Amino acid sequence: MLAKRMTRLGTETAFEVLAKAKKLEAEGKEIIHLEIGEPDFDTPRNIKKAAIKAIKEGYTHYTPSAGIMEAREAVSEYLNKTRPGINARPEDIVITVGGKPVMLYTIFALVDEGDEVIIPNPTYPIYESLVNFVGGTVVPIKIKEENGFNFDIDEFERLITPKTKLVVINSPANPTGGVLPKKDIDRIVEILQKHPNIYILSDEIYSEIIYEGKHISIATYPGMRERTIVLDGLSKTYAMTGWRLGYGLCPSNLVSYITKLITNSVSCAPAFGQMALIEALKGPQNSVKKMVREFKKRRDAIVKGLNEIPGFSCQTPKGAFYVFPNITKTGMKSQELANMILYEAGVACLSGTCFGKYGEGYLRFSYANSLENINKAIERIKAISYKWADKVKG
Ligand code: PLP
Repeated sequence: MLAKRMTRLGTETAFEVLAKAKKLEAEGKEIIHLEIGEPDFDTPRNIKKAAIKAIKEGYTHYTPSAGIMEAREAVSEYLNKTRPGINARPEDIVITVGGKPVMLYTIFALVDEGDEVIIPNPTYPIYESLVNFVGGTVVPIKIKEENGFNFDIDEFERLITPKTKLVVINSPANPTGGVLPKKDIDRIVEILQKHPNIYILSDEIYSEIIYEGKHISIATYPGMRERTIVLDGLSKTYAMTGWRLGYGLCPSNLVSYITKLITNSVSCAPAFGQMALIEALKGPQNSVKKMVREFKKRRDAIVKGLNEIPGFSCQTPKGAFYVFPNITKTGMKSQELANMILYEAGVACLSGTCFGKYGEGYLRFSYANSLENINKAIERIKAISYKWADKVKG
């Protein structure tokens, strides 16, 4: 018999939709994949070369659980450069197997049964899954389209109770592409200063994929660094999802516990990968800039195309590589429409509800695909839109 906690563990439905789409492909259907959240670009050559060199040089053994010191130094240098004022010391950095484990380590280290965790909704589903798993209580805060896909700061303040242990923020955000404006971060900090026992998990995995302005980390604010775990990694920025390389910047008093969790789970991140991480963060960054320029073109194309579909209305997101069109005017439920688009138009996308209850009324499209495929996907959806066009109101 399974442990009870397993009934509380969620999952990431994107992988299930991917499996459905692959099954259709195996049956001979041609599917355009706009469901998966990974850059379609190749990992830059200098990074691949660094990994191959490291293997040849014998970086093929265990490393300390928190990572090779040189890699931790590279991360600290990178964070200090990209987030001025963050004061990232190498000793406070852990190198992890992708960015995702930083969620697990943070929640395992901090959240006791009955503790409350404020989590935006819709959002990446793993935060909620893990909090439920450890017996914590998820307190969802609604992400509002009319706020540029951000939550309401007054509501945030109202949701804080003496049981609040952790707050999750994610900017730029999955699934909406929303970016927390500085004025909102200012106010969140102001509020949190009144509650010194609350920790923050700041998921900054899309920090480099931003189209206007620059990313701001909450950990750069006075007093916040000591209570914020910053999650970032190489998956999105350097098109390295399959390498499984990420990192966390931890409050000094948490590093040893998080390191212990690494020892208990995976021992360490791959040695040669850590050497490649040094090249990724310290080497030329032109491939990142090029990728972001390309994403911007695709973003503009997909937003324009989606807005031409009856019943769809799509904002222009400021970051990440997702769009989150409002489809309420089609009169259909999100999941029903996502299925129809998959089975009848051959386009895989996700229902907004894959990211939480407040995702109803939306679909998520990832534009990590070629412009040609994006345009083809739009044409295919337009071609079946007669099915709901007569129901479109207003
Ligand atoms: N955080 C967010 C918001 C994500 O969307 C993802 C992946 O989609 C991750 C973290 C996980 O990143 P990684 O692949 O580095 O584990």
